[in-house]
Amino acid sequence: AGPVSAVNRHLTLAINGTHGPSAPSSQKFLRGAPPGAFFKKRCFLDLVFLSIHASPMQFHLNGFRPGDPHLHEPAGAPGGELDVLIVGCGPAGLTLAAQLAAFPDIRTRIVEQKSGPLKLGQADGIACRTMEMFAAFGFAERVLAEAYWVNETTFWKPDPARRDRIIRGDRIQDTEDGLSEFPHVIMNQARVHDFYLDVMQKSAARLTPDYARRLLDLAVAPDRVTARLERTDTAHEGEVEIVTARYVVGCDGARSAVRRSLGRALIGDSANQAWGVMDVLAVTDFPDIRLKSAIHSAREGSVLIIPREGGFLVRLYIELDKLGESERIASRNIDAAHLIAAAQRILRPYTLDVKEVAWWSVYEIGQRLCDKFDDVPAQDVAHRLPRVFIAGDSCHTHSPKAGQGMNVSMQDGFNLGWKLASVIRGLARQEILHSYSDERQGIAAELIDFDREFAKMFSAPPKDPNDPASTGIDPADFQKYFIMQGRFTAGTATRYKASLISAPPIHQHLATGFVVGMRFHSAPVIRLADARPMHLGHTLKADGRWRVFAFAPVETTPLDRLCAFLADAPESPVRNFTPPRADIDSVIDVRAIFQQPHASLALEAMPSLLLPPKGRYGLRDYEKIFCPDFKTGDIFDLRGINRAQGCMVIVRPDQYVAHILPLEDYAGLAAFFDGFLRRQNEESSYFFEKK
Ligand code: FAD
Repeated sequence: AGPVSAVNRHLTLAINGTHGPSAPSSQKFLRGAPPGAFFKKRCFLDLVFLSIHASPMQFHLNGFRPGDPHLHEPAGAPGGELDVLIVGCGPAGLTLAAQLAAFPDIRTRIVEQKSGPLKLGQADGIACRTMEMFAAFGFAERVLAEAYWVNETTFWKPDPARRDRIIRGDRIQDTEDGLSEFPHVIMNQARVHDFYLDVMQKSAARLTPDYARRLLDLAVAPDRVTARLERTDTAHEGEVEIVTARYVVGCDGARSAVRRSLGRALIGDSANQAWGVMDVLAVTDFPDIRLKSAIHSAREGSVLIIPREGGFLVRLYIELDKLGESERIASRNIDAAHLIAAAQRILRPYTLDVKEVAWWSVYEIGQRLCDKFDDVPAQDVAHRLPRVFIAGDSCHTHSPKAGQGMNVSMQDGFNLGWKLASVIRGLARQEILHSYSDERQGIAAELIDFDREFAKMFSAPPKDPNDPASTGIDPADFQKYFIMQGRFTAGTATRYKASLISAPPIHQHLATGFVVGMRFHSAPVIRLADARPMHLGHTLKADGRWRVFAFAPVETTPLDRLCAFLADAPESPVRNFTPPRADIDSVIDVRAIFQQPHASLALEAMPSLLLPPKGRYGLRDYEKIFCPDFKTGDIFDLRGINRAQGCMVIVRPDQYVAHILPLEDYAGLAAFFDGFLRRQNEESSYFFEKK
């Protein structure tokens, strides 16, 4: 990464000061264009990229099945009462539904007031962290192929010589090298919904939303929740359905009826910032129309250009005035023509000839937050368990500038999904449900602070360098802030505090690059059995399982001993928390990473825990053992693993690092899982018996 970063810095400096359309057309090379080495390095990385981005799949375990392996065998609807009712088919609700659909033994229903799926519009930025989650759901490759990739960002400012024109101020790499194996991409929110709907539809649960049902209100009892749903389709208009469920999750957006039923409120800015947003097909001579561009004009305001998927479509965000507390933008009669005219003024001297407006909206939003994301008042947490949760815009709203809304909402759904599933399936103690509000409310608060600052910087007029008395922001300061906050916008800055499911980082020194409380930062490896180059993080599927990655020291006896303990010892968490007759890795999935080159290791000498027999035929799982990929970087170096001692890295089902332990600390490992998992035996085993 070092040389690439250095060249990128060079690139940034070289391109400053590019001129507008008056530059001679014969001048095709930007002054000081980067040396060829930059491109060579990138091409090599791109080749590697192809292999590491394809997330491997396993299928045929329980017998050969022809056709699309994403299409699971239908499991048939489980009987009994509804386990989870999800209200709202936005990104939060669909992430949660896709996660719960992985468990056909859980009865889930998702309802939506609209008559069908979203077709266009709303958010479009997909952060690197979200792509990592998409990989867990199995559709990251499809998004990579379809989406626009935000590789670089340009900054435009008033020309100091002629303040009524804009010039390019700078050009930077969008995401820092090595932050994630995935790029930051742009794709319509409606397509994100489509991918989730596809996962749900193809799952063994065959989950599909019930459209045209509006939640009216909820009644919460200690063991169940009753919801009143109004039918909104013409055939059943006005009919009210009564539904009871063990848990209800409000993913019903900023005007949430679930939140209202809980008596909770979004607190924050009393006045809304209004943004004009339009997706257009346009002819323009603005040279950076296919680059994400932040443009500050001297007097006409700011525009953010977001190139869109497909090569032609472009989104323009135009900041409008702040609205009064009770004022709505509708009262100002703003339409697409106003937005186009504003964009044309800001882009001068460049022209913008809009041929088609695919979607436009005036999006009013304030940065607001709920103090708690479930139905349990703070003072009752010690003796009451949550039954109702709120997620996404129903409990936090953001400006569109930093692209947080959709991304954070999906992470809420991912955080809650596995917790609900583990509790409903009898695998985990109900107390872990408190951690949803604890974790996500804290993160939302941090992101809202960041978003407020970011939006403020974006809205401030640019300082006039010719007028020392002028107020506003120096464009260079805005750019610096933009770069500094890259990890926030990429979604990789999230860090959960120590709790039942996230240990204090007392052994962090054993693996400095896997930060406890933060998402598992993937790295390349070679799978031993089939010599496949891949990313270790792509073994983390959205299947509700915990992972123990055992990194072996050079001398591998401690790893053998750990495997023997996990396979046979009475205190082994793998034995104690796996239901009888379930596959040995169905709750805790143990994988090993060796330091030696893959060709020097003997598969046949590996501990049996790492080649477990599974499924109805007892087929061996050959995909548990990995080695460094020396061509792309040794994972032990990349993630600061202690080579002499090795270590265990314990990863949650939502891909966050929960604990790091010495390989010999069997007691510590058992105690950690004992803190929140439930011991399984013939009586307690719920999910394999329910069917
Ligand atoms: P939502 O996506 O709002 O989904 C909530 C769902 O619940 C909706 O489908 C709604 O119909 C349904 N619902 C609501 N009430 C009920 C009820 N009582 N019963 C049943 N169903 C109900 N972000 C950007 O970054 N850029 C943008 O340009 C942008 N534009 C937006 C434009 C609009 C009109 C909206 C609404 C949002 C926009 N956003 C934008 C925000 C972004 O879409 C949200 O942050 C993101 O969708 C939040 O996801 P969510 O699942 O929490 O809520």
